[in-house]
Amino acid sequence: MLKLFSGLMFTVFVVTLLLSCSQNPKVANSKVDLQKAEVRIAKANAGIGDTLKKIVKTKEEWKAQLTNEEFYVLREAGTERSFTGDLWDNKDEGIYTCAACDLPLFDSSTKYKSGTGWPSFYQPINENHIGKDTDQNLGYTRNEVHCARCGGHQGHVFNDGPKPTGLRYCINSVSLNFVEHR
Ligand SMILES: [Zn+2]
Repeated sequence: MLKLFSGLMFTVFVVTLLLSCSQNPKVANSKVDLQKAEVRIAKANAGIGDTLKKIVKTKEEWKAQLTNEEFYVLREAGTERSFTGDLWDNKDEGIYTCAACDLPLFDSSTKYKSGTGWPSFYQPINENHIGKDTDQNLGYTRNEVHCARCGGHQGHVFNDGPKPTGLRYCINSVSLNFVEHR
């Protein structure tokens, strides 16, 4: 009986171990060229100072510029359905910019597979390009993330991301444009 019990416990232990391993986030692109990424990030951040000047537009102006879905997510802090966007599974190398004002927000080298169906990054391309707020839309406090220049809602940031930051920037595909870089 004792033998059976310890055998059972061992099985539970192994299964738990396997599960925890399979949940470890993986970098979306295993061939990430860090040197290229570094150059790309430096370029995106170079001389950006002045361009961080706030962009303010009326609701009508944003409506005229954005698609209905973009307006709903970017200006009304909506959320696209998971696994429906065109960037959650994008593994190409390049920069993710704000879909409303083109400010560089994330780099592909910090994108990882979170399994959520939304593009997930462990850090922004530049902390100054991201604004943070809190919301209670789901009945509990979440840390909202938006573009620092135009205020466009991007998504939320959670504390269950991978190293080195431990953060998970959970971003709507529709809030981003992707600029490929080979
Ligand atoms: Zn923006």
